[in-house]
Amino acid sequence: MKIKCKNCIPEDGIEKPNFTQSEKQEIWKLKTEKPIFAVKTLIDKYKFSQKEAKYIIAHINSNYGKCNRCSYNNLVEEYKNCPKCKALNFNWKIDK
Ligand SMILES: [Zn+2]
Ligand SMILES: [Zn+2]
Repeated sequence: MKIKCKNCIPEDGIEKPNFTQSEKQEIWKLKTEKPIFAVKTLIDKYKFSQKEAKYIIAHINSNYGKCNRCSYNNLVEEYKNCPKCKALNFNWKIDK
Protein backbone atom coordinates (compact mmCIF):
# COMPACT_ATOMS: atom_id res chain seq x y z
CA MET A 1 0.00 0.00 0.00
CA LYS A 2 1.29 3.44 -0.88
CA ILE A 3 1.12 6.49 1.30
CA LYS A 4 1.08 9.91 -0.28
CA CYS A 5 1.53 13.54 0.60
CA LYS A 6 0.38 16.28 -1.71
CA ASN A 7 3.11 18.59 -0.47
CA CYS A 8 6.06 16.29 -1.03
CA ILE A 9 8.15 14.51 -3.64
CA PRO A 10 7.69 11.82 -4.90
CA GLU A 11 4.14 12.85 -5.68
CA ASP A 12 2.97 9.27 -6.02
CA GLY A 13 4.22 8.54 -2.51
CA ILE A 14 6.19 5.60 -1.14
CA GLU A 15 5.32 2.11 0.05
CA LYS A 16 4.09 2.18 3.62
CA PRO A 17 7.02 1.02 5.77
CA ASN A 18 6.49 -1.87 8.20
CA PHE A 19 8.33 -1.01 11.37
CA THR A 20 7.97 -2.87 14.64
CA GLN A 21 7.04 -0.85 17.70
CA SER A 22 10.62 -0.92 18.99
CA GLU A 23 11.92 0.26 15.62
CA LYS A 24 9.40 3.11 15.68
CA GLN A 25 10.62 4.08 19.15
CA GLU A 26 14.22 4.06 17.94
CA ILE A 27 13.53 6.05 14.78
CA TRP A 28 11.28 8.56 16.54
CA LYS A 29 13.94 9.19 19.18
CA LEU A 30 16.64 9.63 16.54
CA LYS A 31 14.46 12.02 14.60
CA THR A 32 13.86 14.08 17.72
CA GLU A 33 17.50 14.18 18.76
CA LYS A 34 19.48 13.94 15.53
CA PRO A 35 17.34 14.14 12.37
CA ILE A 36 20.25 13.79 9.96
CA PHE A 37 21.46 10.70 11.73
CA ALA A 38 17.91 9.31 11.62
CA VAL A 39 17.94 9.54 7.82
CA LYS A 40 21.34 7.84 7.74
CA THR A 41 20.08 5.04 9.99
CA LEU A 42 17.13 4.34 7.70
CA ILE A 43 19.52 4.07 4.77
CA ASP A 44 22.29 2.05 6.43
CA LYS A 45 20.31 -0.19 8.79
CA TYR A 46 16.88 -0.44 7.17
CA LYS A 47 18.04 -0.22 3.54
CA PHE A 48 15.77 2.54 2.37
CA SER A 49 16.83 4.82 -0.48
CA GLN A 50 17.86 8.32 0.49
CA LYS A 51 14.65 9.69 -1.01
CA GLU A 52 12.47 7.29 1.01
CA ALA A 53 14.46 7.87 4.19
CA LYS A 54 14.04 11.64 3.96
CA TYR A 55 10.37 11.23 3.17
CA ILE A 56 9.83 9.00 6.20
CA ILE A 57 11.69 11.24 8.63
CA ALA A 58 9.94 14.34 7.34
CA HIS A 59 6.52 12.87 8.11
CA ILE A 60 6.99 11.37 11.57
CA ASN A 61 4.88 13.26 14.08
CA SER A 62 6.60 14.86 17.01
CA ASN A 63 3.44 14.56 19.07
CA TYR A 64 0.84 11.82 18.78
CA GLY A 65 -2.40 13.08 17.28
CA LYS A 66 -1.02 16.46 16.29
CA CYS A 67 -0.53 17.28 12.61
CA ASN A 68 3.03 18.17 11.67
CA ARG A 69 1.92 21.00 9.44
CA CYS A 70 -1.13 22.66 10.93
CA SER A 71 -2.99 22.99 14.20
CA TYR A 72 -5.17 19.89 13.73
CA ASN A 73 -4.90 17.83 16.88
CA ASN A 74 -7.11 14.79 16.54
CA LEU A 75 -5.34 12.29 14.29
CA VAL A 76 -6.10 8.70 15.26
CA GLU A 77 -4.86 6.50 12.42
CA GLU A 78 -1.18 5.65 12.05
CA TYR A 79 -0.51 6.73 8.48
CA LYS A 80 -2.94 9.51 7.92
CA ASN A 81 -3.41 12.50 5.67
CA CYS A 82 -4.57 15.34 7.86
CA PRO A 83 -8.27 16.08 7.24
CA LYS A 84 -7.58 19.80 7.52
CA CYS A 85 -4.39 20.44 5.50
CA LYS A 86 -3.96 17.02 3.77
CA ALA A 87 -0.35 16.66 4.89
CA LEU A 88 0.81 13.11 5.50
CA ASN A 89 1.48 12.19 9.12
CA PHE A 90 3.23 9.13 10.50
CA ASN A 91 1.14 9.24 13.63
CA TRP A 92 3.07 6.70 15.67
CA LYS A 93 2.16 6.10 19.29
CA ILE A 94 5.47 6.44 21.11
CA ASP A 95 6.25 5.87 24.79
CA LYS A 96 8.36 8.84 25.71
ZN1 LIG B 1 4.62 15.82 3.12
ZN1 LIG C 1 -2.78 19.34 9.11
